[in-house]
Amino acid sequence: MGILIFYLGAIMGSFYNVIGTRLPKKEKVLITRSHCDNCGKDLKWYNLIPIFSYLFQNGKCSFCKEKISSDHFWVEIGTGFLFLLTLIYFPIGYEFFIGLIVSSLLIIIFVSDFKYMIILDSPLIISTILIVILKIIYYSSQNVLYSLISGIALTLVMILVYILGNFAFKKESLGGGDIKFTFIIGLILGFKVGLAALILSVFLALPYAIATLELKKNSEFPYGPFLAGALLIVFFHYDKFVLLIDFLFNF
Ligand SMILES: [Zn+2]
Repeated sequence: MGILIFYLGAIMGSFYNVIGTRLPKKEKVLITRSHCDNCGKDLKWYNLIPIFSYLFQNGKCSFCKEKISSDHFWVEIGTGFLFLLTLIYFPIGYEFFIGLIVSSLLIIIFVSDFKYMIILDSPLIISTILIVILKIIYYSSQNVLYSLISGIALTLVMILVYILGNFAFKKESLGGGDIKFTFIIGLILGFKVGLAALILSVFLALPYAIATLELKKNSEFPYGPFLAGALLIVFFHYDKFVLLIDFLFNF
């Protein structure tokens, strides 16, 4: 079962890499055939087997022998690992499926935000629809209403941070994608725990932000991967964060 889920993750990861790389360039994801970036030859089915093709071809194109970027390989391994982790953490059910969605979002945002500084709308919209459907199946429409309100409330907090940030730094402080993604954090975690995830994301991003500022003298960096990372960490340890928040609020 573990091997199966891991490889399913690798297959999905291969797809997410294509979405994250091609959609921002407005390339057709499903129609355009995968081809070698160097010689332009269309790849055959046996060049497209997640993880294995890269290993058997020694990381080189099987036509022109030029080195292929290892990005695909690591994205496939990473997605497989996150899917496997979800299976280890949760029994098959609501949390397991949400875990797969969170893992998928993390990978797609990681690819598109680091490569192009963009968080795509379509994965956010599809995830929102899937989350609402899962909530209706496993809980109730009342739960959906509460979650939607939490999502909107958390987004308002992020918009406030954005306005204050723009005022303080005299420049765009957050991307529109970051604000839209906050809605999903609230939808999944609820308002209070969602707020904890936002705070955690700041701590996750801080070392990277300082490093970019010091090394590249550049104050712009992708924030999406850290938001998605915080969502994943908090979702996987939801009970512990609820206890921590209760402790802090009762103190
Ligand atoms: Zn080639």
